[in-house]
Amino acid sequence: MRLNPDLLPCPECGQQTDSLKGYRLPTFLLFILVAASFKHALVVGCPTCMRKKLLKLGLINILPANILWVCLLLPWYSLAAAMSTTKGHSGAVLKALGR
Ligand SMILES: [Zn+2]
Repeated sequence: MRLNPDLLPCPECGQQTDSLKGYRLPTFLLFILVAASFKHALVVGCPTCMRKKLLKLGLINILPANILWVCLLLPWYSLAAAMSTTKGHSGAVLKALGR
């Protein structure tokens, strides 16, 4: 059995992947009149799980973020979804591994 050191298990589905992605993303954004409240977290997963999570975060935040959802979260999440299609572990994952 050959062990590939570049494969990492996805924390979500447990699948071994050569493209584990970790992005620091706003997970909750509440926007009321002029004040906005942010919650950030490092979202980690294989490309498939990452896009599922982005979709879920997008849906959760439509109402609380309202205007900011369109001008901030939508482009942010779209960018993260686009980056998740690239091959290889993302920078945050490599950094966590100390590489
Ligand atoms: Zn996964």
